[in-house]
Amino acid sequence: MQIATKEVSAVDMVKTALEKAKRFENYNIFISLNEENALRKAKEIDEKIKKGENPGRLAGVPYALKDNFLNPEGNSTAASKILEPLGSPITATAVEKLEKEGAIMIGRANLDAFAHGSSTENSYFGPTKNSKDEARVAGGSSGGSAVAVALDIVQFATGTDTGGSIRQPASFNGVFGFKPTYGTISRYGVVAMASSTDVIGFFTKSADDMDLLMSICAGQDPKDMTTLPDYYNQTPAKDVKRIGVIKDFDNDKVAPEIREALKSEVKKLESKGCEIVELDMPTLKYALAVYYIIVPAEVSSNLSRYDGIRYAYRSDDAKDLADVYSKTRNDGFMPENKRRIMIGNFVLSSGFYDAYYLKAQKARTKIIEEYSKAFEKCDFILTPVAPNPAFKLGEKVNDPVSMYLEDVMSVPINLAGLPSLSLPVGETKDGLSLGLQLIGPRRSDKNILAFAKELA
Ligand code: GLN
Repeated sequence: MQIATKEVSAVDMVKTALEKAKRFENYNIFISLNEENALRKAKEIDEKIKKGENPGRLAGVPYALKDNFLNPEGNSTAASKILEPLGSPITATAVEKLEKEGAIMIGRANLDAFAHGSSTENSYFGPTKNSKDEARVAGGSSGGSAVAVALDIVQFATGTDTGGSIRQPASFNGVFGFKPTYGTISRYGVVAMASSTDVIGFFTKSADDMDLLMSICAGQDPKDMTTLPDYYNQTPAKDVKRIGVIKDFDNDKVAPEIREALKSEVKKLESKGCEIVELDMPTLKYALAVYYIIVPAEVSSNLSRYDGIRYAYRSDDAKDLADVYSKTRNDGFMPENKRRIMIGNFVLSSGFYDAYYLKAQKARTKIIEEYSKAFEKCDFILTPVAPNPAFKLGEKVNDPVSMYLEDVMSVPINLAGLPSLSLPVGETKDGLSLGLQLIGPRRSDKNILAFAKELA
């Protein structure tokens, strides 16, 4: 991480980042820029440095904030119309921790509205373009964050990962994207998608930078009862020898270039002395179906608070209270948000709860058990992040099922609450980025990043 010093001023770093953000405006990376606040904070950092005070481990480092993190600087939209006018009174814990170390938010990054999606095409503010090919999607839902790092506008960006939203856009843009163990970083002040799988994580250019951000943000927060005590900074080093690969993932639904990339990475690991363990994980094929029952169920509950009364946008042509709710919600949500609210209500309704929701929860337990067994045989598992590299803008947006199928390799990890690092492993012959993910048992986050450093 390049931090501000006597030689490199925070003001210059922030100015450069803002200039770049403007230069790349056609990629639609940012929903809003935070120019005035960022420059004011940069001056304060430079003052501290001049006075010889400690400016923090992220002094003057410009970053992009996925726009589902709350912060009073500007509006927190979650890329939706319904929250577009939301000036937040609170600051997310993760933001507080980053800024305490001197990091400076230069803009709010685009996403699929409420983080529902795999391409950033579901944003009320329009899609973000891929950093390698402007005709292709950035990936999602944290598309803006991934592209902001890939184009070197900022040194890092925040993300949320409910079913792949950090790892998949990271792999589509050739950067590192880390989804920590569930509960490692506080979710306080982050717009909830599915509370039992949502995690906070980051996009960076290296495993080293990722480690630094994790060491700053990990830890228990009294404002989020699901946070774990800080195990991250106490993790003992581990010698990693056995890498698992999943048999079922080597099939013709996975793009040949991705299968090739996996094979060559496996060879590299073997040459470094790792033992490759073939894993049979037959339950994983149910993970996508399980995810698309449990997540919409939680989404429908989490989104019920946006009723036009308590938050932000309200439709002004309603004739009575019921009409306020329905017009506000119909107008304020994107089609994908509404689809999930409907699926969620359906699977939770009295006639279908047992058949769908309860069954999905049982299957989720099986998936968790299958991973636990796998980790008796290996230290980490290496798999693709997604079955294809970045697809064309518009290609899947009207076909939700084909969009959901892109998540088949990322969602099982969230259902089990495991840490996973998406790491860049090269490009296709057309120059599209390829990524693989390294998955570990719960609380092995630090060791995953240490192993990735070794691989580099
Ligand atoms: N693409 C997945 C979905 O649409 C994951 C989204 C996310 O992680 N926020 O649900």
